[in-house]
Amino acid sequence: MILLSVVNINKSMPEFIPVLSKEEIDRSIDDLASRISDDYQGRDLVLIGILKGAFIFMADLLRRLYVPARVDFLRVSSYGSGTSSGKIRLTKELETDINGSDVLIVEDIVDTGLTLKYLIDYLKAFHPGSVKVCSLINKHENRKKNVKIDYFCHDIEEGFLVGYGLDYNENYRNLPDIYHLKI
Ligand code: 5GP
Repeated sequence: MILLSVVNINKSMPEFIPVLSKEEIDRSIDDLASRISDDYQGRDLVLIGILKGAFIFMADLLRRLYVPARVDFLRVSSYGSGTSSGKIRLTKELETDINGSDVLIVEDIVDTGLTLKYLIDYLKAFHPGSVKVCSLINKHENRKKNVKIDYFCHDIEEGFLVGYGLDYNENYRNLPDIYHLKI
């Protein structure tokens, strides 16, 4: 709360409605990491984090896995203040050989599903053994593509979320909890 009031100084005082606490996020990542570790025993796992929103989730998930995993990142850009408009462009390419490997895309939020569809198609061209998807949040209100999310931590119906890596115009990524931001 102290942090939020500092952030709000001299701005138009947006409203922050708590959605997920740090403790809830931690618990769900614990569960997810053990499921993923069980499922990927003896496999050649590569986690591919999607910048920038997933960087904190990716770091917390990776540290809880008890199977070996290589790591890479992709970065996509889309118009607007955080949500995808459908015009997706890759701004950081893959740097790891994933031929025959078991790829797990690590996303912050799946909203319309357009970014995920684009990323799956992009990664399949490198002939991985498998491509699955893990997202911190599965948000339903704007879904346009019927993409399969193999693992997710939280189902959220609607709202624009910030905190725990999620931004609004590059602000609020440092908040430990997740909030619904009302401007
Ligand atoms: P999609 O292509 O599924 O519509 O959206 C993908 C990206 O839009 C997410 O990875 C995330 O970067 C951004 N996004 C979607 N919903 C939200 C939200 O509620 N808050 C923030 N900060 N970003 C969002």
